[in-house]
Amino acid sequence: MGKLNVTILRYLTKEDFRVLTAIEMGMKNHELVPGPLAASIANLRHGGVHKLLKELCKHRLLSYERGKHYDGYRLTNSGYDYLALKTLTIRNIVSSFGNQIGVGKESNIYTVANEEGQPLCLKLHRLGRTCFRNLKEKRDYHQHRHAASWLYLSRISATKEFAYMKALHERGFPVPKPIDFNRHCVVMELVDGKPMCQVYEVPDVEALYDDLMNLIVRLGNHGVIHGDFNEFNLMLTDDGKPILIDFPQMMSTSHPNAEMYFDRDVNCVRDFFKRRFGYESSLHPTFSDILREDDLDVEVSASGFTRQMEKDLYVEMGIVTEENGSSVEINKENETIGNEEVEELRKEVEDMLNEEFNGKQKKTGDDYAHSTSESDNS
Ligand code: ADP
Ligand code: MG
Repeated sequence: MGKLNVTILRYLTKEDFRVLTAIEMGMKNHELVPGPLAASIANLRHGGVHKLLKELCKHRLLSYERGKHYDGYRLTNSGYDYLALKTLTIRNIVSSFGNQIGVGKESNIYTVANEEGQPLCLKLHRLGRTCFRNLKEKRDYHQHRHAASWLYLSRISATKEFAYMKALHERGFPVPKPIDFNRHCVVMELVDGKPMCQVYEVPDVEALYDDLMNLIVRLGNHGVIHGDFNEFNLMLTDDGKPILIDFPQMMSTSHPNAEMYFDRDVNCVRDFFKRRFGYESSLHPTFSDILREDDLDVEVSASGFTRQMEKDLYVEMGIVTEENGSSVEINKENETIGNEEVEELRKEVEDMLNEEFNGKQKKTGDDYAHSTSESDNS
């Protein structure tokens, strides 16, 4: 585990950013973005896009690949990281980068700091990492869906995490304070403590068990289930307070399989306490203990995290829903798209650049969540 390679953030120009954004937009409906299409979306006043594309490949922010039907460029993980980190830097959310502190199942976690030197936590979501290489296997596996791209999945995972963290934090739940997000990247408070999987002794086992069970029920009362409530997603602060993290798989208590996921969360805690502390209690909550008194789930789905995004994410995470099927269709056969569509992508690039480079005020995740909610490939 090392540092993020961020020196490049200082050297790349606004034009580089424009070209990378053009590839990002082109990838909404292309597996690979052919050079002429990239040029046309980037719409550089003085041309020269091919030289920029070549440089970006050299820095491994893009790669040029031969596809079955046509050749073209795609964003690499680093290229996508660059776009998000550059945006957060321009917004003055993050100003320095530290070490990697964790690798989760579906993320990389780093420490960063803001202008005042206050340490923060940066989470880069990495979903659907198979990219397009293992697409066939994946497609055969989930017969009736089109595989969604890793760009889209990582982005909606971060969008969802931020929305839940914000709603939970506002209601006084013990979660990190959300700071901002962009694309697949969430910035939040850095928790002073360690994950419970590294904790072998606590002053009062029974009190901690009760705290955690009460937390599960309180979430239920607000209409939600964490869905992965285990010792890896619970941190313990140095003064013994549990903090819940990791929200992309959260779901509503109205989900058709809610009771099963609720029981699974409860059993994670029971199993862990038995295994780690030799503690067993005859008391544990059941789904019928929930007294629904809030619609946090409804608030989140109204905040730009649409039903379709939710469905796509559930398919990727293997969460069972009534009907599966992704909204994303990739144009594999034919690289030509209509002028209208190019025009639209061009405009999106323009808007993105105006918003981030020329915006006078510091943007927060709040405004951003609303301003991007319409630009998804649903
Ligand atoms: P994943 O979705 O990949 O499981 P998590 O959000 O669970 O990612 O984070 C992975 C690990 O990173 C956690 O187990 C924890 O050790 C560390 N971590 C995550 N968020 C924070 C935070 N806000 N402060 C401190 N450490 C964190
Ligand atoms: Mg986790």
